[in-house]
Amino acid sequence: MPYGLDFTKPGATGMTLLLHVCCGPCLLYPALALRKNAIAFTGYFYNPNIHPYKEFKKRLEAARHVSTELGVTLIVDKDYGLKDFLRAVVFHEKQRCHYCYSIRLEKVASKALSRHFDSFSSTLLYSTYQNHALIINYAKRIAERRAVSFYYEDFRKGWQKGIDESLRRGIYRQSYCGCIYSEQERYDNILKKQLKKKRKDNV
Ligand code: SF4
Repeated sequence: MPYGLDFTKPGATGMTLLLHVCCGPCLLYPALALRKNAIAFTGYFYNPNIHPYKEFKKRLEAARHVSTELGVTLIVDKDYGLKDFLRAVVFHEKQRCHYCYSIRLEKVASKALSRHFDSFSSTLLYSTYQNHALIINYAKRIAERRAVSFYYEDFRKGWQKGIDESLRRGIYRQSYCGCIYSEQERYDNILKKQLKKKRKDNV
């Protein structure tokens, strides 16, 4: 058993967790941190609206790669959801991340309930590029509505460690967040400067 721990059985804490997985590099640090805290978890890959479809496949492959190396069971949802995403965010593009977070968190909470996990969380909490406060807000509201708890840990503290590990293991690292808008924005220098400043203020 890699690392001598079965991630699928309750750990020393007795808690079982379903962890939403956005990609391989973002899974690395949370997986190692949860293991350190003896929290058993299963991964759940669910990432509609990653553009283009080939990129979606690459991220899925990287998530599988990391899961295999760490001995993490990974449930895969291949829903691509491009049309639903575009229909939901058109004319509200600046608010699109709300939709993106909420559908992922709703889905992982619902899957956790149907599979009898005690709690849910997300590797989105690892990225210093994401709106951390907004993710927590949605997750808490979802947990209040449903009989499943939200497990919170600030995985951002392992940001550099996760990067080093992914480079060391040769894991595919994406260069933009995921949707078609973010794919275009990575070339927008003015916006890049604004995001960099916002990111510094947030972390
Ligand atoms: S920028 Fe990232 S979080 Fe926001 S909608 Fe696009 S893929 Fe989702």
